[in-house]
Amino acid sequence: MAKKRTLITGGAGFLGSHLCDRFIKEGHHVIAMDNLITGDLRNIEHLFKHPDFEFYHHDVSKFVHVPGELDYILHFASPASPIDYLKIPIQTLKVGSLGTHNLLGLARAKKARLIIASTSEVYGDPTVHPQPEEYYGNVNTVGPRGVYDEAKRFQEAMTMAYHTYHGLETRIVRIFNTYGPRMRLNDGRVLPAFIGQALRGEDLTIFGDGSQTRSFCYVDDLVEGIYRLLMSDYAQPVNIGNPDEITIKDFAEEIVKLTGTKQKIVYHPLPKDDPKQRQPNITKAKELLKWTPKVSRAEGLKITYDYFKSLPQEVLFQRDHKDFEGYKK
Ligand code: UDP
Repeated sequence: MAKKRTLITGGAGFLGSHLCDRFIKEGHHVIAMDNLITGDLRNIEHLFKHPDFEFYHHDVSKFVHVPGELDYILHFASPASPIDYLKIPIQTLKVGSLGTHNLLGLARAKKARLIIASTSEVYGDPTVHPQPEEYYGNVNTVGPRGVYDEAKRFQEAMTMAYHTYHGLETRIVRIFNTYGPRMRLNDGRVLPAFIGQALRGEDLTIFGDGSQTRSFCYVDDLVEGIYRLLMSDYAQPVNIGNPDEITIKDFAEEIVKLTGTKQKIVYHPLPKDDPKQRQPNITKAKELLKWTPKVSRAEGLKITYDYFKSLPQEVLFQRDHKDFEGYKK
């Protein structure tokens, strides 16, 4: 049987790079594409020597050309942290909308199956808890998260339209908070923020009173769920995440224990539209994909902490988007 050829957009990012590893391991020829605004070549440099790995430096918001056949497309290109949306809102909107349109067109031309990375952010600040796929969400279209949330909601709508109108094979994964090695240390998300602060000897910054909740999934579990969904025949959205919910205050205390930091926990104002609670209902994934998360937070955090500890000092102190003015397109 011919080798499967798989395009992974956002391939140099946190999730994208883990997906590249997984599809290489499954014996696919993998083409990673990334414009490197939030991705990092260090995440995939170990793959460059592999004969079945290629990298294209390209922005998928512009026309996407890939020579040869494609069997699968995984659209994982997007800024994915609230600080990124504030800093690069237009690119966030473009990659979810124009980028998705380009990849849907590519999937049609190549007769490939496409999976898009959607998000728990489509539920906004949810009034239903835990969140099942049937919940329509509570999103502020013009708030700071609107650029991400609405791009992802549009992405789902457009993907479903290509599925129903063109008969394209599509999959939609709604990803809840995920963590693990290769997260960007300074992207502002809570886990790298807390661990980075502990490693630099800074105080840990809780936004609000820390009573808001999140449910954190270890990256290997997420990748397994995505793989199973892609290989299934189910075109409706599926939540993938770990339902083990925790308040941000308790999470900060876990990080204090894990890192042994002597720094204080300090409180900052809660950002606008910060969801008060979030937990995936994963009944669908369990039933359809026979999938459940396997890695506990204690195990996953240990691996992630070891990764962050191993990073060079200059990465630890690097500030992202230094030249962010240049991104204003
Ligand atoms: N948060 C925090 N301190 C930080 C960064 C984030 O308390 O230094 C909070 C943030 O307000 C949110 C939660 O942690 O309630 C998760 O934030 P993150 O940016 O990781 O992702 P979100 O789930 O909000 O998209």
